[in-house]
Amino acid sequence: MKSTADVVMIGGGVIGASILFNLGRLGVTDTLLLEKDVLGSGSTGRSQAICRMHYSNPVTATMAWESLGIFTNFDEAVGGESGFVETGYLVVVGQEDGAGLAHNVAMQYGLGIDTMRVTAKDLEEIAPMVSVTEGEFMAWEPQSGYADTYMVTTSYAKRAREMGAEIVLRNPATAIEISGGRVKAVVTAEGRVETPVVVVAAGPWSKEVLGQIGVDVPLVPVRHQVASITRPVDKLPLHPTVGDIAQSFSFRPDGSSLTMMGFGDDEEVGVETYNQGVDMDVMADAMGRLTRRIPAMSEAYYRGGWSGLFTTTPDWHPILDAVPGIDGLYCAVGFSGHGFKLSPMIGVTMAELIVEGAAKTMDISPLRFSRFEEGDLLGSSYRYRVLA
Ligand SMILES: Cc1cc2nc3c(=O)[nH]c(=O)nc-3n(C[C@H](O)[C@H](O)[C@H](O)COP(=O)(O)OP(=O)(O)OC[C@H]3O[C@@H](n4cnc5c(N)ncnc54)[C@H](O)[C@@H]3O)c2cc1C
Repeated sequence: MKSTADVVMIGGGVIGASILFNLGRLGVTDTLLLEKDVLGSGSTGRSQAICRMHYSNPVTATMAWESLGIFTNFDEAVGGESGFVETGYLVVVGQEDGAGLAHNVAMQYGLGIDTMRVTAKDLEEIAPMVSVTEGEFMAWEPQSGYADTYMVTTSYAKRAREMGAEIVLRNPATAIEISGGRVKAVVTAEGRVETPVVVVAAGPWSKEVLGQIGVDVPLVPVRHQVASITRPVDKLPLHPTVGDIAQSFSFRPDGSSLTMMGFGDDEEVGVETYNQGVDMDVMADAMGRLTRRIPAMSEAYYRGGWSGLFTTTPDWHPILDAVPGIDGLYCAVGFSGHGFKLSPMIGVTMAELIVEGAAKTMDISPLRFSRFEEGDLLGSSYRYRVLA
């Protein structure tokens, strides 16, 4: 492992890998990524990887839309495959969220995002397998879908390495050395690396990594469950990705015969101690909701599942910023259940912030570190906060 680097990245999830690649694009190639396990072994490898634009705020809607352009043009933009599959994305909300949905679609439309409000009659054309009830409201994004977290993360890492980055696996950062208010070095299990710049992209572990140097960041890990289901392909060869806010869960196809469903109460848990399996009673309840939304799913069966961590902030939006008070320290943390779909633009904007002093491609100041103490949190149109 090298003993000096221009930038040290802590964390080899999709966020660390994307930033590393984008640093290389801007000419910063003497970089080192430290990963305590293997690439994508944190939240990234447990993600549903849904790529949709439906948000309540322009900053995340824009980031998702621009990122979609990169996922769908990945070989040219990055190199390699993203595994993106266009399925269309249907949002369904209940009566109480109808105004929120109308607001979000109008806001997205104003940003040039391909989305529209649709009726039950429209669904007969777009997604005839989906059942909605009187008083539910819908929006449709024809170009949305899902991608492959492993392909995206490893493609970013491979291209970064080809440009000069070093990636060291199974080597945790154990300390960040600060002197005179500046970053000086990172201590790892394999030795010390001198560097003027450290980026913390350690997912659910970021609170601990930053806490070691006295930086208190409001991150709370919550557990989200995922089930893999075999669907009756003779009756249900295809279905769109659905954000079912009315029933507080989501699902998407997973290849030609499987469906991946995300659900749960998002309870606060310990990063090292949480239950990584699925609660059968909660899963059975989610299967009931799935069957209400797509009646043909009554013949689907459960294959297996897992749980992962959303690293939440008080407004369920990430923190993308320099850490105030310590020169050379940056963080890209708190993705709250939607970091995958934003990862291409997080890489672009964080690299610009680090190399050029400000994000130039788009304004990320709504995601600044200080917004919590300023009381300037981002709002959501819905109570189901992952769609914040
Ligand atoms: C169940 C589930 C479903 C999701 N569904 C979606 C979805 O549909 N769409 C979407 O956009 N997002 C989704 N997300 C969110 C998305 O997956 C995450 O926001 C994203 O993967 C976060 O990436 P990351 O790189 O920040 O974190 P991580 O993937 O957790 O990566 C952090 C890495 O840092 C490493 N690390 C930690 N400490 C150290 C250290 N001291 N030294 C070195 N390395 C360290 C870890 O080992 C880990 O690999 C979902 C998440 C979960 C859990």
